[in-house]
Amino acid sequence: MNFDYLKEKDPQVYEAIKKEILRQRRSLELIASENFTSLAVIRTQGSPLTNKYAEGYPGARWYGGCKFVDEAEDLARARAQELFSAEHANVQPHSGTQANMAVMFSMLEVSDTVLAMDLACGGHLSHGHPLNFSGKFYNIVAYGVDKEKEVIDYEQVRSLAREHRPRLIIAGASAYPRIIDFKKFRKICDEVGAFLLVDMAHFAGLVASGLYPNPCVYAEFVTATTHKTLRGPRGGFILTKKEFAKQIDTSLFPGIQGGPLMHTIAAKAVAFKEAQDPEFKEYQKRIIANARKFSEEFAELGLRIVSGGTDTHLLLVDLRNIGITGKKACDILEEIDITVNKNLIPYDPKSAAVTSGIRVGTPAVTTRGIGLKEVEDISRIIYECLTCNENKETLKSLRSKVSRIIDRFPLYPEIEI
Ligand SMILES: *Cc1c(COP(=O)(O)O)cnc(C)c1O
Repeated sequence: MNFDYLKEKDPQVYEAIKKEILRQRRSLELIASENFTSLAVIRTQGSPLTNKYAEGYPGARWYGGCKFVDEAEDLARARAQELFSAEHANVQPHSGTQANMAVMFSMLEVSDTVLAMDLACGGHLSHGHPLNFSGKFYNIVAYGVDKEKEVIDYEQVRSLAREHRPRLIIAGASAYPRIIDFKKFRKICDEVGAFLLVDMAHFAGLVASGLYPNPCVYAEFVTATTHKTLRGPRGGFILTKKEFAKQIDTSLFPGIQGGPLMHTIAAKAVAFKEAQDPEFKEYQKRIIANARKFSEEFAELGLRIVSGGTDTHLLLVDLRNIGITGKKACDILEEIDITVNKNLIPYDPKSAAVTSGIRVGTPAVTTRGIGLKEVEDISRIIYECLTCNENKETLKSLRSKVSRIIDRFPLYPEIEI
């Protein structure tokens, strides 16, 4: 696979793509929300299906010529339903945020109350950030984590729910390392007559592999992304019970989207098939094992891990005891080709632009084949990098250590660039 054609037609865009491929190859990608899709997914996304207008749903489109894209969307829907034992799937959301918007627009009136996880404790911007549609349209009440244990305080969720009587409760987060107890959320919802939305954007791959409880058992609505642990193309999807299928479909189209991205939907179908393969489950197990290993190694080196560890693909590291901010850590790790993101820790004294912590995730490096032994080495490299007072010589030697590790796990060797 190569980009020679593009190189000739548009050398400037070609250059940007080339540099990005090379960056992905030479970096240790520890951003918890990223992954490397298969070439099958990339090929499908780069197919002429991008040309097709297909407003509507399979069998009921507003345009002619949809017979074959219908096949692709039917495959994606059926595979998603099977993978998550769901009654109905909508695979058209352009992103996870669109998926959440479709659910909220279908069930809520403007200024209804929504109970969701505090962004400062790991929640997502589409769960009520003041600048996001969710924060602007709805009355958001936020629950957090217990100050000591740093896990969701279900008693607080319950008492807030009883006090504010939300119409919708959202479970799911972007930076929460523990398994969420959906059963408890269901009970609280039933007690106050609220709908439950589980946003499994981050951990959908773990759910598909049976390594995380399946929220479809408990929630009326489940939203997700396809590009995180699930390792598919960038996009979203919604799973729901049959009784809400029509409402959700209408809310997405014509409610908030026009024509679906048929090339991406076909690529979602490919990713769902890959996720049905037994090898995918082994991959998800390795993701968790690697995340656990990071948290053990960091703890041994004296770093504090939020909530004391992880059950999932990510962990939060509190950097206060080594006197460095999340922002600074992120910047110097980038100098040695390690990519992480700065992240608020629960009750962070610093602002979201600075933060006291970093989020470390293993889906992408695990895709490359990195295992426990390398994680041990990488943990030391990260620790040394963060504690070397930006010593130029040390950083240089760490950078070459990273590059020696990376070289053993080639990324997209089939792509000639
Ligand atoms: C990543 C994420 C989303 C969706 O993000 P998009 O960038 O809009 O695809 C939604 N919810 C949570 C909890 C997430 O982590």
